[in-house]
Amino acid sequence: MHKWPLEDKPLLVFYETTKACPLACRHCRANALLKPLPTDLGTREVMKFIEDLTGFGRPYPVLILTGGDPLMRNDIFEIMDHAKSLGIPIALSPAVSTKLLNEDLLRELRNRVNSVSISLDGARPETHNYIRRTALEQIDVFKTTLEAFEMLRKLGVEFQINTTVMKLNVHEIPHIFKIVRESGANAWEVFFLIRVGRGMELEPLDPWETEDVVQFLYDASLYGLPIRTVEAPFFRRVIMQRSASVKYEGGRLYQELTGQLRELMGESSSNAKPPSFTPTRDGYGIIFVASDGSIYPSGFLPLTLGNVRRDNIVKVYREHPVLRTIREARFNGKCGVCEYRNICGGSRARAYTEVGDHLASDPACVYEPTAK
Ligand code: SF4
Repeated sequence: MHKWPLEDKPLLVFYETTKACPLACRHCRANALLKPLPTDLGTREVMKFIEDLTGFGRPYPVLILTGGDPLMRNDIFEIMDHAKSLGIPIALSPAVSTKLLNEDLLRELRNRVNSVSISLDGARPETHNYIRRTALEQIDVFKTTLEAFEMLRKLGVEFQINTTVMKLNVHEIPHIFKIVRESGANAWEVFFLIRVGRGMELEPLDPWETEDVVQFLYDASLYGLPIRTVEAPFFRRVIMQRSASVKYEGGRLYQELTGQLRELMGESSSNAKPPSFTPTRDGYGIIFVASDGSIYPSGFLPLTLGNVRRDNIVKVYREHPVLRTIREARFNGKCGVCEYRNICGGSRARAYTEVGDHLASDPACVYEPTAK
């Protein structure tokens, strides 16, 4: 695979098209609303921002249209068509709602987007519906989500499933993995909770539980489905360790999750290859543009770097001092001396929200660097 020049251009540009959303998920970074805000970028401003992205040069980063719910914007097709006409790949991250995300709409989307991501936070309706509350319509979000997977599969639209792991759903993770694997999804992206926005209502895993889950994800990845983590870059440290035959005995949670995994899926193939990865982190390979145009290193790291209304995103990505320190892996504490800092570097968002310093060590990582 061509090595992506992460110093010069992100792989992924997240654009929060609007905060408006029919769901009011308990862990959303946004405070969801039923109407777009007057501060949202207007159509012409969005078009200009999209044109600025071509300054990164080909191949262009993937533009991930997220929210809120991007389908709440009246001009979303216009935005997608403009990006597509410029050759920018598009991924769409809609909320599940029968009013907005239905088969007719997916047919419309099919030729516009490269992929779609849908969230699944529970293997049982009770869990998923508790986490992903609806505000617009009374629907069984869990059932509608499974129907959305089926529609996407039938229409041949590439999709990935996103899961946010927390105390509330951690025991369901092997069952969620089974649903994901059987759904026809191309990848499973597992988010580790950062306590911002509504995420404050929910309890994240403690560090050893986090380690147990990340180690479990390594075992799950041996069943052939690509698995990525968000805000747990130390999954890559685990991949390196386990590929080098460093055994993990694990705590009770790890034993429980891997026991369930074997029960549900049988043994993984002994020839299974460890997952590959790209060493991105908040602000390095990733950049986030909020609905009002503010630029952040990621959606979970509220350090403003500029605004697409007045700043060129290419210049901000390449030159902003905050991003330079992040990409040069100049961290404090154990992340700063860790032998895995270049491929991992810890969650800068968690360091910032928990410690108040975006260069501090990631408090969720239990690893003790040998070079300390
Ligand atoms: S100490 Fe920091 S850099 Fe090292 S594995 Fe943990 S989070 Fe990653």
